[in-house]
Amino acid sequence: MKRICIIYTGGTIGMERTENGYEPGKEPFADIMARISDFSSPELPDYDVIEFSPLLDSSDVTVNEWNKIGRTIYEKMDLYDGFVVLHGTDTMAYTASALSFILQNLPKPVVLTGSQIPLCEIRSDAKDNLISSMLIAASGKVFEVCLYFAGKLLRGNRAIKMSADSLIAFDSPNYPRIAEAGIDIKYRDSVLMKKSDKPLVLKELDEEPVGVLKIFPGIQIELFESIITEKLRGVVLEAFGAGNVPNYCGALKNIIAKAHDNGAVVVACSQCPTGNVSIGTYAASGSLKGAVSGKNMTTEAAVAKLYYLFSCGYSVEKIKELMEVDLCGELDG
Ligand code: ASP
Repeated sequence: MKRICIIYTGGTIGMERTENGYEPGKEPFADIMARISDFSSPELPDYDVIEFSPLLDSSDVTVNEWNKIGRTIYEKMDLYDGFVVLHGTDTMAYTASALSFILQNLPKPVVLTGSQIPLCEIRSDAKDNLISSMLIAASGKVFEVCLYFAGKLLRGNRAIKMSADSLIAFDSPNYPRIAEAGIDIKYRDSVLMKKSDKPLVLKELDEEPVGVLKIFPGIQIELFESIITEKLRGVVLEAFGAGNVPNYCGALKNIIAKAHDNGAVVVACSQCPTGNVSIGTYAASGSLKGAVSGKNMTTEAAVAKLYYLFSCGYSVEKIKELMEVDLCGELDG
């Protein structure tokens, strides 16, 4: 009999309505599951539930929770066939990206899921998301951090939250779905990560001073110059299209030069959900000279990767080089 570990961190899946809006409920999640007969079906693997404290709305998840989830999985790897992480949907794509760097060479599946409607409410999407995630965690077919939601299994560091209110809330527009759950769960071997013959690695992340700046038409870039202090180590710049930015007044050039002088890394990602950053294709990318290309990484993956590379203690030059290299499936090399 397969056995999986369910790590409950918070999120809508276990929330209750309160006068302040939805909040994590008081009843242990394992008790809620025990009341729902489907979870004792012999078709499902046996499971243990580990409940984090405090339970969080994922808006409050930080590097500490990423490390705590990673550490829990690392320490219990030999005890289970796979892991399901129950997490709020709002920052689930960031956590999935971070875990793909924290836990490398995974020998077993790590599946993040959650729901848009709490498990205890009528019309909840939680039961299907959780049941399918449990089956995937016990499948022995996945060797990476992935995110399951509404019939789609996505590579964790390629996923983005697409909708604030649709039950089909996630997709990975820049990478094929790694499995689809219809009548059967169909895995796509050609896009799944192969099992590594290297040992599992846990690399906890440090709280690094990184940031995200989204470019918009008419942006008065000089207003942002003051955020580029010596303390800031990495910036993800969300540029237009293939990596284009306003060229007026050369203000962005100053920012990038200042970041460079301060030893910070500027990574250009695209505001478009699909396609690639290609600095140099347009003259309008001229101000990005000195920045590195985020290629087709999501902003979520680029942020997590900056945390990871700085936590590894690499030199700025090495970090710039590695930002453009595929480390764990986060970009097309
Ligand atoms: N605010 C919630 C969270 O991210 C939303 C959800 O779980 O769907 O924790």
